Amino acid sequence: MREINVSKIKDAVAELCLKANFELRRDVLKSLKTAVAKEKNPRAKNILKAIIDNARLARTKRIAICQDTGMVIVHLEIGQNVALRGGALKGAVNAGVAEAYRKGYLRKSIVSGALFRENTKTNTPAVIYVDIVDGNNVKISVSPKGFGSENKSAIKMFKPTDSADEIKEFVIDVVKKAGPDACPPMVLGIGMGGTFERCAYLAKKALLRPVGKRSRQRHIARLETELERAINSLGIGPMGLGGKTTVLGVNVLEEPTHIAGLPVAVNVSCHATRSAEKTL
Ligand code: SF4
Repeated sequence: MREINVSKIKDAVAELCLKANFELRRDVLKSLKTAVAKEKNPRAKNILKAIIDNARLARTKRIAICQDTGMVIVHLEIGQNVALRGGALKGAVNAGVAEAYRKGYLRKSIVSGALFRENTKTNTPAVIYVDIVDGNNVKISVSPKGFGSENKSAIKMFKPTDSADEIKEFVIDVVKKAGPDACPPMVLGIGMGGTFERCAYLAKKALLRPVGKRSRQRHIARLETELERAINSLGIGPMGLGGKTTVLGVNVLEEPTHIAGLPVAVNVSCHATRSAEKTL
């Protein structure tokens, strides 16, 4: 049994919060650069260039990519041969988030409840997901999620007899409703299957997959390509001001579900789709 002190997890979470907020993911940056080359609309091209410039400045000057430094989502994959020592895991993760947001001068956006909205002043609690996996490592993925795009996300319980075209229509409608509010170009994480809450989790997890990396399941990869093409022909464009780059990518994660159901969730993310990961 490998022992890991939770202080190491705290330190890693703090480091990853800063990295994610200051350094736009390489895959997102690459897709923005590809989009500049493809865009014909001069205004769209200029907006994309400004987004790339903003990311460069954030990285070099160590300032946040966006003023909305988000609610922190932490995915932990803990090997079943790991013993965590030195205190509570949840406390360590939240201590890491609080430290990073304090040291990095990142905006603290978390309020204590949905109705009683007092700022917690630490940007905690984080939303923490734990998966127990094989092995003796701990993989930590941190994604600060802005709510301009989070608010545009949606879930729908389809009937098992509903077709792929009906699902596509739902996803396209989510994008149309988001319009400029989700700071396009967007990245869509789509969860299909599981239960009501599981498919929302899958949609969130799908955003961790690099943009442009297709699903290994052929029918899902095809759906991703079809959705990207259909959405990018809507003309919403960067910041909603026209152009062919409305989404940088569509990532779908599919899981088994019940014979009587077909849950689908769309987690909308913006051009500041941020995350960073590390394995201990
Ligand atoms: S949607 Fe994204 S880019 Fe827009 S304000 Fe929120 S975090 Fe920033």
